[in-house]
Amino acid sequence: MTAESLTALLMALTMPLFAQPSKPVVIAHRGASGYLPEHTLESKAMAHAMGADLLEQDIVLTKDDVPVVMHDIHLETICDVAQRFPERKRADGHYYALDFTLAEIKQLHAHERLNPNTGQAVFPNRFPLGRSSFAIPTLEEELQLIQGMNRSTGRVAGIYPEIKQPGWHRKEGHDISRIVLPILRRYGYATKADQCWLQCFEWDEVQRIRNELSWEGNLLLLLDSRKKDEASLAEVAQVADGIGPALSAIVTGKSKADRKVTALVKNAHAAKLLVHPYTLRTDELPKFASSTDDLLDVLFREAGVDGLFTDFPDVVVRWLAAHGMR
Ligand code: CA
Repeated sequence: MTAESLTALLMALTMPLFAQPSKPVVIAHRGASGYLPEHTLESKAMAHAMGADLLEQDIVLTKDDVPVVMHDIHLETICDVAQRFPERKRADGHYYALDFTLAEIKQLHAHERLNPNTGQAVFPNRFPLGRSSFAIPTLEEELQLIQGMNRSTGRVAGIYPEIKQPGWHRKEGHDISRIVLPILRRYGYATKADQCWLQCFEWDEVQRIRNELSWEGNLLLLLDSRKKDEASLAEVAQVADGIGPALSAIVTGKSKADRKVTALVKNAHAAKLLVHPYTLRTDELPKFASSTDDLLDVLFREAGVDGLFTDFPDVVVRWLAAHGMR
């Protein structure tokens, strides 16, 4: 018997002992934000209907310590705060959610993300600015919406909460993680078996969440491509279950012809970390991809990522289904 056939035989014998590699997950980035204003309940309902596995929540605190779902710690890019409360901006020109009570934030009208300098939509072909009516939801309102849809449709979508800028929140006197974690637990998200991934960009806080705050659920460290990593993958794996790098950390190159898949996914898998990169936007493709299909192909079939944050969950669901990965 040759070494090759012996290896093949051993693999065939031992295969059933290992679980099937799990299929990649589709993470609705700020909801189906390619179609409806980000982080509105409407965008989450659409993402759920599109079959996303996990729906993302970015979380910041109000002045009265209520977690609300919005991407930035300030408000002016996603709602009419500058018109409604013009005198409430800080010296740096920003309107911070932390300076407004929940009752005040509930008076604001949310809209598609805009560039506050130009007043124009960041993504011009998405949901039109100034149309219809949207609000900024609390974390609890959103969890109730998702769990309600899980029940009414019979299809369970999980959640993917991100603790936004915990260091900044603490400097301002608000311990955001200590407020958010009990809410997640109260809604049934506490262990790795629960459909919840908690994410954060700050390595100190990820360690604190696992150790000091005793989080037993899935935990992901987001990697900022503009900063040097503070910990090795082996160190990260002591605490977290996965990493969330930018697409540019997975594939490099200025065109399809000169692109290269980096060693990051392979190294992360060797360290027993899953890899969920951000963000697939069909209206803002990286230069190394010639099309959306090409990007999905290099990410899932060449690099082997375990999931993907996307503004367009339907596109990724469809592609995975067409390629036998769903
Ligand atoms: Ca996020």
